[in-house]
Amino acid sequence: MRMKIRFSYIVMFAILVIIACAEPAEEPSENLSQINTHQNIILIILDTLRADHLSCYGYHRYTSPSIDSLAAEGTLWANAQAQAPWTLPAHASIWTGLSVRSHRTIIPQAVYMDSGASVKLMYTLDRALPSLPVLLSEAGFSTFGIANSPYVSSIYGFDVGFDQFSCYLNGQERAGITVDSLIIWLEEHTEERFFCMMHLFDIHDPYNPPIPYNTIFQGDPDVGHFNWEVENNEILNKDEKDIAIDLYDGEICWVDDNLRRLFSWLRVNNLADETLIVIVSDHGEEFLEHNGIGHGETLFQEVLRIPLIMSGPGIERGMIDSTYVGQFDLLPTLLTWAGEDCSSYFDGTDILNGFNQKRVIPSSAVLHSLPRNQTPLDILENYHMASTVFNHSKTIMMSNMENFVSYDLASDPEEQTPLPGDSAGIEDVLFYWATPQLGFPEFAAKDETTIQALRDLGYIND
Ligand SMILES: [Zn+2]
Repeated sequence: MRMKIRFSYIVMFAILVIIACAEPAEEPSENLSQINTHQNIILIILDTLRADHLSCYGYHRYTSPSIDSLAAEGTLWANAQAQAPWTLPAHASIWTGLSVRSHRTIIPQAVYMDSGASVKLMYTLDRALPSLPVLLSEAGFSTFGIANSPYVSSIYGFDVGFDQFSCYLNGQERAGITVDSLIIWLEEHTEERFFCMMHLFDIHDPYNPPIPYNTIFQGDPDVGHFNWEVENNEILNKDEKDIAIDLYDGEICWVDDNLRRLFSWLRVNNLADETLIVIVSDHGEEFLEHNGIGHGETLFQEVLRIPLIMSGPGIERGMIDSTYVGQFDLLPTLLTWAGEDCSSYFDGTDILNGFNQKRVIPSSAVLHSLPRNQTPLDILENYHMASTVFNHSKTIMMSNMENFVSYDLASDPEEQTPLPGDSAGIEDVLFYWATPQLGFPEFAAKDETTIQALRDLGYIND
């Protein structure tokens, strides 16, 4: 036995000598070295966060020290555009790398029945489309998703591709608990290559930041909660706009503080150097800039200009990129960063390695305030709106392919001076509107009432 062991040692030694004397091994290929350092991805989606309320985007208030420090260590895109002004279609663009007209996860909202009742009919994400979690899971990533809105839940197909996925459907789970849940999962998966998606809903209305964040920007601790009051399409408490903004900004501070805990944890656990952190929003929020509140019904920059920040290995430090990009660029960008095949078709593109800067960035939505007795098809065809941005020139199609307005975002970033529809812009919008449909989503029928309504509308044939 002893001889055998000794012989084995001799053989091993000989092999080592042969290896040592052989031609020097080639340098690791770029791909291999990339995989060694370009290890993990954490995608953080901050619902309803408009870019211009973060200090790193020039906001006059100091709302986001942790996000600012992440931006200083990485790259900030100054002109990132949402593909839709509300949660469901915007997330579908993040998931699929497609524009709304391609994935078609849109909403024929509030369909009125003959009885006068209305039902909200929503499309789900088409689970057959290639998506970020599915592609990264297939590439060997351990995948974890946690969300705080029903529109980012399994009901709408957003759990697809995740090894573990949870969603607080009432949208009221706080950032503190959600960040804790992510850290608990990370503690058990540090040895794996991981992709985590964390969606935080705190910044979305109602604006009610926890103590002490409720009094950071307005001093009265009794005003800890704000909701817009609307009656017959009229906003009753317009003069309380400043309170709304104070509390909205307080929510941003609260979320930022919780992100600091996550960033610290990554550093302490030696994961920061091999983990790409991405911060993005699904859409912004209106505070009466164009007489509207909330989001979802317009395509102005207060709802379309979103933050996009990346920090981690392979990302240029301290860089501000002013190129117009979209949230649909995330999928091809992250896939390429991870060294994975990116040969499927996407409307988005890899924004880390240079691209044709003459790119049109589209967005679209369906109007919410609709006449009664419209079928979903009527709504999709007649009550839509779309916009495109090319360099600083933005054109919005209000509805019916007839009503166009343009803005020069360089001289008029707040879109206060409408210009007649620019002919090139109109062409871009109509070209976008003719985008071939790639996703074929289904209705998310949530309950018997909705199912019956669908049946009544002829969408379900028993
Ligand atoms: Zn949202």
